[in-house]
Amino acid sequence: MRYVSTRGQAPHVGFIDAVLGGLAPDGGLYVPQTWPQISPAEIAGFATKSYAEVAARVIGAFAGDEIAEADLLEMCREAYGTFTHTAVVPLTQLEPGVFLAELFHGPSLAFKDVAMQILARLYDHILGREGRVQTILCATSGDTGGAAVEAFRGARNVKVVALFPEGRISEVQRRFMTTAAEANVACVAVKGSFDDCQAIVKQAFQDKALRQAVDLSGVNSINFARIAAQAVYYFTTAAALGAPGRQVSFAVPSGNFGDAFAGYVAHRMGLPIATILVATNANDILARTFETGRYARGKVHPTMSPAMDIQSASNFERLYFEGVEREATETARAFTAFADSGAIDVPPKAFAAMRALFRGAAVSEADTARTIVSTFNETGQLVDPHTAVALSALRRAPLEGPVIVMSTAHAAKFPETVAKASGVTPALPRGALDLASRPERFDRLPAEADTIKAYVRAFAEG
Ligand SMILES: *Cc1c(COP(=O)(O)O)cnc(C)c1O
Repeated sequence: MRYVSTRGQAPHVGFIDAVLGGLAPDGGLYVPQTWPQISPAEIAGFATKSYAEVAARVIGAFAGDEIAEADLLEMCREAYGTFTHTAVVPLTQLEPGVFLAELFHGPSLAFKDVAMQILARLYDHILGREGRVQTILCATSGDTGGAAVEAFRGARNVKVVALFPEGRISEVQRRFMTTAAEANVACVAVKGSFDDCQAIVKQAFQDKALRQAVDLSGVNSINFARIAAQAVYYFTTAAALGAPGRQVSFAVPSGNFGDAFAGYVAHRMGLPIATILVATNANDILARTFETGRYARGKVHPTMSPAMDIQSASNFERLYFEGVEREATETARAFTAFADSGAIDVPPKAFAAMRALFRGAAVSEADTARTIVSTFNETGQLVDPHTAVALSALRRAPLEGPVIVMSTAHAAKFPETVAKASGVTPALPRGALDLASRPERFDRLPAEADTIKAYVRAFAEG
């Protein structure tokens, strides 16, 4: 399987280079040259297979012959063995025709674990084979850092430095990062905002000498392996409800569009899907795009679903590329224009193609809070604010059933918000009960790029 850039000016690469490379050198995103196909009979068979087996099949379709089948299956077994539910992503029925796909049974209680757990094993495997050690540097406003630390702790060929804004993330989120005892993990509380952290990461990546010295790498959601890993649960949950004989719809709380785009990927691979509802909070760039055809950045509003407080959705470029029938020149033009002006119009034909599968809806803070209460009152289920956004969007824009709602975080990851809305404080699951008493370990640094770059270098070389 070869990978091409959405902007058409980068050499084609194999799976491993697409994974380790992150962004293509022309600024585009890698996508597979063709979409691998899974037959209806095989999809039906997924209903009785283990999650790890389906993951190995789906991810294997993208890895081709670059990762041995048996190795990949072993990595998937290890990755999904860290989840506390044997189904890995179980379905719970919420009301007639509406099901929650519980994506939060991994080590950091958020859906980012699903992709990060397998990504860490892929990295360690590939780098070990090449005799290479990479340093992953990430800035986090909450969930990504915890998922990355949980996934990469103890990896032999990867070191991780996670930067977070001191005092601006929740205690639960912080502790998922800072309580890892392994020596390959370093957490840094930066005296500044999340934007400061992100700007510093950007500067570190632009520093060629540093990048080469410590073999710097990133794990944000533009990485195609993350998308491939997320396509898996579209297959397993739909098959559990009778796919491909029965068509299902999905409602997806969205920010960077990685999760919802993975649904598109599953669809292109042969999974029948009626509609994917892209649900956003007040940061509604995606909701507006799927309703109006204009992709235009807005101001970032802080909300109670912070993992979706994003006003440009990197993975949208991949859908645009498909929408314009893989015209790389047009995609490059559009996203260069977007970077300059903050707004582009999706050509009518591409918009029609997108509307064949996608709908968008934005949800207010008041509706999110109300949905947490009403869901609890009607079902006894406490949902986290991100899941509540998708549920609320679904009430406004009902879909052809059955509908699977992506439940992207455990309610206990956002205890204050959930308690404020519902009057009930969600309990941490068994495996995380001692989180508050685990010893923490992190360094404090000023928001200065040079200081942090020196820290990364010393840590990577030490
Ligand atoms: C990251 C995240 C999302 C948004 O997913 P995207 O792939 O960025 O659209 C939604 N909910 C939670 C809890 C998340 O951590």
